[in-house]
Amino acid sequence: MDDLKFVTAGQPICNGNAGYENSFKILESLKLDGMELEFVHGVRMSPANQKIVKELSLKKDMVLTAHGPYYINLNSKEEDKIEASIKRVLDTARMGKELGAYSITFHAAFYMGMPADAVYKKVESTMSEVCKVLEEENNDIWVRPETTGKGTQWGNLEEIVKLSKNFKQVLPCVDFSHLHARTNGGYNTYDEFCKIFEHIGKELGDKALNNFHAHIAGIEYGEKGEKKHLMLKESDMNYKDLMRAFKKFDVKGVVVCESPIMEDDAVLLKEYYLSL
Ligand SMILES: [Zn+2]
Repeated sequence: MDDLKFVTAGQPICNGNAGYENSFKILESLKLDGMELEFVHGVRMSPANQKIVKELSLKKDMVLTAHGPYYINLNSKEEDKIEASIKRVLDTARMGKELGAYSITFHAAFYMGMPADAVYKKVESTMSEVCKVLEEENNDIWVRPETTGKGTQWGNLEEIVKLSKNFKQVLPCVDFSHLHARTNGGYNTYDEFCKIFEHIGKELGDKALNNFHAHIAGIEYGEKGEKKHLMLKESDMNYKDLMRAFKKFDVKGVVVCESPIMEDDAVLLKEYYLSL
């Protein structure tokens, strides 16, 4: 990626049901850079919409990312659910590739009361199946487990970075709001943000900082982690220092804004970032 792009998590809210063509118009008028396609309830898009999304994103030089289904658990105790989860990740990657997307992300697994290292091994072995199939299919899209928002969900920063180290095609999707919520208020200072980028750069090299995928929103949280997304200005999310850290490390890639007023907050993030 040649710079840092700011995109919405799905079609802009003000678009209502006006369709993808209008969504791209809105993004363009707001000077935003694209959108994350939300396949959270299943990897489905009509052929007509696929054509519009593919053609318009190319024509308007917009970046696309994709979010996989919520019903993914690579650590399920039932083998058929693991197989179904692998298929959902693969289908997201296939649809992403077909539409010309840059990167896909998903919530990889739940701990299910198991020790973290056993869960890590399970996730690692299922990810190796995913990567093997994608390689056979010549699909080189970035595949990214996301840092999760609750302690019951597998995927703190260290786990995601460690997993990324083992696969050429895997990099983290860093959901900064999730990290903040998961630690009940941590990861919210300039130094803490810098440490995240330092850690990723040290462990995964420049390719990770030059091909970033981040999620940002305001967030409400408690001891168990994430409760719900909030507007940036109504939350304690220190987005200004986060943007400063992005700038300091010259991070390139895609920032997806997931706030309830996502297009407005994506503009807020982008304008602040560009003002630095
Ligand atoms: Zn997510």
